[in-house]
Amino acid sequence: MKRFAVILTGAALLAPPPTFAQMGAPGQRPTGMPAVAGPLAAKYKTDADKILTAAMEDNEGYADLAYLCDHIGKRISGSPQLNTAIEWGADLMKKAGLQNVQIQPVMVPHWVRGGESAALVGPVKKPLHMLGLGMSVGTSKEGTTADVVFVHDFAELDALPDAQVKGKIVVFNPGWKGYGVGSMYRTGGASHAAAKGAAAMLVRSATGLAMKTPHTGTLRYDEKQTKIPAAAISVEDALMIERLSKEGPVKVHLQMDAHMEEDVKAGNVMGEIVGSEHPEQVVVLGGHIDSWDVGQGAQDDGSGIMATFEAVSLIHKLGLKPKRTIRIVFWVNEENGGAGGRAYRQLIGDKIGDQVAAIEMDGGAEKPLGIGYGGFGGGRRPTPPVPGAVAAPVAEPRGMDESTLSPAEKQSFVYMKDIASLLESIGANTVSPGGGGSDIGPITTDGVPALSPATVGDHYFDWHHTEADTLDKVDVDSFKRNTAMLSVVAYVLADMDGRLAGQKSVARE
Ligand SMILES: [Zn+2]
Repeated sequence: MKRFAVILTGAALLAPPPTFAQMGAPGQRPTGMPAVAGPLAAKYKTDADKILTAAMEDNEGYADLAYLCDHIGKRISGSPQLNTAIEWGADLMKKAGLQNVQIQPVMVPHWVRGGESAALVGPVKKPLHMLGLGMSVGTSKEGTTADVVFVHDFAELDALPDAQVKGKIVVFNPGWKGYGVGSMYRTGGASHAAAKGAAAMLVRSATGLAMKTPHTGTLRYDEKQTKIPAAAISVEDALMIERLSKEGPVKVHLQMDAHMEEDVKAGNVMGEIVGSEHPEQVVVLGGHIDSWDVGQGAQDDGSGIMATFEAVSLIHKLGLKPKRTIRIVFWVNEENGGAGGRAYRQLIGDKIGDQVAAIEMDGGAEKPLGIGYGGFGGGRRPTPPVPGAVAAPVAEPRGMDESTLSPAEKQSFVYMKDIASLLESIGANTVSPGGGGSDIGPITTDGVPALSPATVGDHYFDWHHTEADTLDKVDVDSFKRNTAMLSVVAYVLADMDGRLAGQKSVARE
């Protein structure tokens, strides 16, 4: 996943939500507003209880996830495994009895890792635990051997004379200040180092947990700079380089075969329960079907697509017929391009107003605390509360000043707290400020209300984008609770009389 900034403008009674930089940091559980039962709870209690019971007794969702992980496995964009997963996903939807099952064709980039290695060659010799960053260029066949320039952050690097960086391998260790900061160095570190003349870039993995496990993830080259090879190294290796750098020169050898191949045809997989009264109005939910080329893509985002799929499948199995359409989508190419989310936006075209809500699960199936509702897209640039004032930067939440909420937004929080009260038996009866995801970003930035599960988030960033993102990390009970919660939320949103408010916003990562 790539996390979107969570910017909330709303609701008093609350401590400020976590900032972008804090997201994913240890101890930063979402701050949930308690549920408040109202007319929706009264109307939907019977159906919701049926769903919750069925979801907690259901074993098919997890069994499907196990098949995806163990029999199809990792599935990076462009790989044959991804297209196998896409065909399998469409079959699964058909077998579940969903309607209008289709694969929307999407061309995806094809980055190939190839062989790779890195090693300390001075003052000591030792292999480094590394993973090349997605979309990185490779080195020459022989690789690059150079002295290291160790820095903690961009400011430290910028303060150095270019001559001191030229031809060297820059190593960033920004520490662990949450995924927002970690992924910023991963995505932007290579071009930042290249601007100073560096030959290559290594970055501490974006994680708080040191288990000698490097974490890959995408990088983004600034087209104005030379593209230099870039890789993530384990936390332990970054810290060792930091220690050795204080003693004297450190030399590293890096070899990467990484390269781009021709784009490959893949697709978004989708299916529906067609609405009984307003079939044109759609509650869309899902996750991304691609993963990195390591591990099994179990939590990122196998658990997301399988929990959302099972949530929809259960509604159908129970014979519930929501007034609006519920659409499940397995978006493609979230990890290194976002082509699936953009293609879905194109598919919707000028019918964007009929997308009633968008729910994305891409944060792992850890124990859910409730539902995150942003309503404000994937990162809202708030309208200044005072006319003429300067809008706050996107990454700085304005806090929880209820006076900044429109009446429709206030009503939306009332709806969500009412719906959340139906989730008490599974311990998910809170509403957290902020929600969304990168696949739904292209529609939520155009005003479609954005939601996502809010989980305890204890370990997601320990596993994701690593060889360790395997099925065993997905707890069965937590997976079922996510399924149960998503099923109730999707069903009520698709059937209730009112609608949530969304907000046009500025997309950012
Ligand atoms: Zn993901």
